[in-house]
Amino acid sequence: MGVKEILEKGRLGRNEIITLLESEGEEKQLLFKKASEVKMREIGNRVHFRGLVEFSNICGKDCYYCGIRKSNKEAQRYNLSDEQILEAARFAYENKYGSLVLQGGELESSGFTQRIEKLIREIKRLSAGKLGITLSLGEQKEEVYQRWFDAGAHRYLLRIETSNPELYKQYHPSNTLHDFARRLTCLKTLQRIGFQTGTGVMIGLPFQTTADLADDLLFMKQFDIDMVGMGPYIEHQHTPLYQYRSELLPIQVRFDLALKMVAILRILMKDINIAAATALQAIDPLGREKAIKIGANIIMPNITPGKFRNDYALYENKPCVDEEPEECKNCLDVRIQLADGEIGYGEWGDSKHFHKRLT
Ligand code: SAH
Ligand code: SF4
Repeated sequence: MGVKEILEKGRLGRNEIITLLESEGEEKQLLFKKASEVKMREIGNRVHFRGLVEFSNICGKDCYYCGIRKSNKEAQRYNLSDEQILEAARFAYENKYGSLVLQGGELESSGFTQRIEKLIREIKRLSAGKLGITLSLGEQKEEVYQRWFDAGAHRYLLRIETSNPELYKQYHPSNTLHDFARRLTCLKTLQRIGFQTGTGVMIGLPFQTTADLADDLLFMKQFDIDMVGMGPYIEHQHTPLYQYRSELLPIQVRFDLALKMVAILRILMKDINIAAATALQAIDPLGREKAIKIGANIIMPNITPGKFRNDYALYENKPCVDEEPEECKNCLDVRIQLADGEIGYGEWGDSKHFHKRLT
């Protein structure tokens, strides 16, 4: 079956998804057009902000792809003070961002749990309950997730990175901290507790095939996920995966593949929230806007104080590292309009899928 026929029939199995992922030229444009139509029809042109606070790059884990992994001695470590984090939250609230994401390296300790719990409560207080809170703090025990949920966080992002357990093993050390089964259990726990649950993958990792990517999309569908953030893998020189850089697809191809993933996912899961990943912008200055045009509806403007952005280097060539939050906002207003979008200021912009899942 060709792309046109697949899009008309609308039944996307593994083989159909692979064909779509391999589409080029006019056929690729057909895919993008279809995804854009689905988005407009199902959720409209509203784009919602999640102000991203990358509050610390201190991490207890050692993922082979990540620039802030524990064993990278070159990384300049930092940890924002509570006051700096609350300042960023105030900025998000005053500028009607609607929601904020607390993201950082992964730590499992009672001190860390308590700190986050206290911050969630304070962010809720300073915004009179109005700022939605998403957490992206990795794998934690059920009781920890529950405490953070009870304190007021209502969304959680935990990427599966790849849904293929064999590949997962190649990207992580083999110990209990980096176990695929644990990540899956964590995702299920988050869903059970009642978080709007988000996941995602990296696209264009070494050894990953188009069939793996098709399986990743089917995994998201089967898991009945509420939100997705996925973007291109970008190599970092101080990481173990860097040795396989000659095996990688050219960066532009990874970028294109990431856009196709977003478009196919929009057709597959019509009412979920899909973020335009920052890593897209590291490759193409208009990368996130392109993702918005073809299916994404969430953008995560960085509101980390400017001087720390450089050090949260998960990958190289991270965009906007020399900007302050205020500049970011002005720049995004213009950019979203260019992508035919409209920013939903002051709104949570929850995943429609989540609310339907509950009813
Ligand atoms: N520690 C938390 C949150 C920070 S990392 C966690 O791991 O969930 C957030 C995401 O950054 C990861 O899920 C991973 O998908 C992405 N990431 C890490 N290194 C990357 C790289 N080299 N290229 C692209 N994305 C990367
Ligand atoms: Fe730590 Fe997340 Fe990077 Fe893994 S991906 S090393 S958990 S920050």
